[in-house]
Amino acid sequence: MIRQVEIVEVGARDGLQNEPEILPTDTKIALIERAVAAGVRRIETASFVNPRRVPQMADAEAVMAALPDQPGVTWIGLVLNQRGAERALATRCHELGAVAVASDTFGIRNQGQTSQDSVAEAAQIVAMARSAGKSAQVTISAAFGCPFEGEVDPDRVVEMAEVLAASDPREIALADTIGVAVPSQVKDLIARVRAAVGSIPVRAHFHNTRNTGLANAWAACEAGVATLDSSLGGLGGCPFAPRATGNIPTEDLGYLLARSGVATGLDLDRLIEAGQWLTGTMGRPLPAMVSRAGNFPPSPVASDTSGALS
Ligand code: ZN
Repeated sequence: MIRQVEIVEVGARDGLQNEPEILPTDTKIALIERAVAAGVRRIETASFVNPRRVPQMADAEAVMAALPDQPGVTWIGLVLNQRGAERALATRCHELGAVAVASDTFGIRNQGQTSQDSVAEAAQIVAMARSAGKSAQVTISAAFGCPFEGEVDPDRVVEMAEVLAASDPREIALADTIGVAVPSQVKDLIARVRAAVGSIPVRAHFHNTRNTGLANAWAACEAGVATLDSSLGGLGGCPFAPRATGNIPTEDLGYLLARSGVATGLDLDRLIEAGQWLTGTMGRPLPAMVSRAGNFPPSPVASDTSGALS
């Protein structure tokens, strides 16, 4: 069992990309600054995709330009093709996140690439980042199930991971893009992928669409994963599942890990404050539960309930 986990905050990208509202650039910066203040050291800040297809990310360059100078913090830009990589490499991005898709139908609908083409494109993106002196990692999306094709063959995911490992990315992530995975599946697939990619670390990315997200995150840790994605508030739905909730919430994941003795480097009280701020900003309740219920044991100020429980 892993005793230390790095949490990658993806709310400003995966979260907001899947919300109907388009937030102003300075609100995105405020969200990112709050995550950094709570101790997050790797953050997905923007997606360099077609602004006509994803208007929520149309200000990617403006977000990158407005980010504060934060030594020790890695800004990650998501890119789906070489054009996106060129755009991202022209900004203050430290790391490119490429995406290979485990199913052809999802790949073609999401990024106009078959599964095999997406693997080749991701390898190109890793090479471009390296020659620009930057870091790059690859996420295998729909690794646990496809919204169009249904079951995804785990052999296919393992084979993709093997091919991608040859391009030597910083890490390879398995993403449950539509939130269908369960812990036994997570353990099995992660064990197989870890065995196939040698020394390359495996990251995991879960959505809580069917309420299995935190259980899956825990199963991933038990399978040796030391880096997990999450979004403050549990922001983000899924365009292919209209009533879906978003990524696993950062404050809920932080609570689970902290109370289990797994170090994350995050300040849970500040995460909860950030989640509450985000709830106010979005103007509606968000899926995260710890920012509603509060930390435990309560901090001294929060525990002063004198007179409230008579
Ligand atoms: Zn996602």
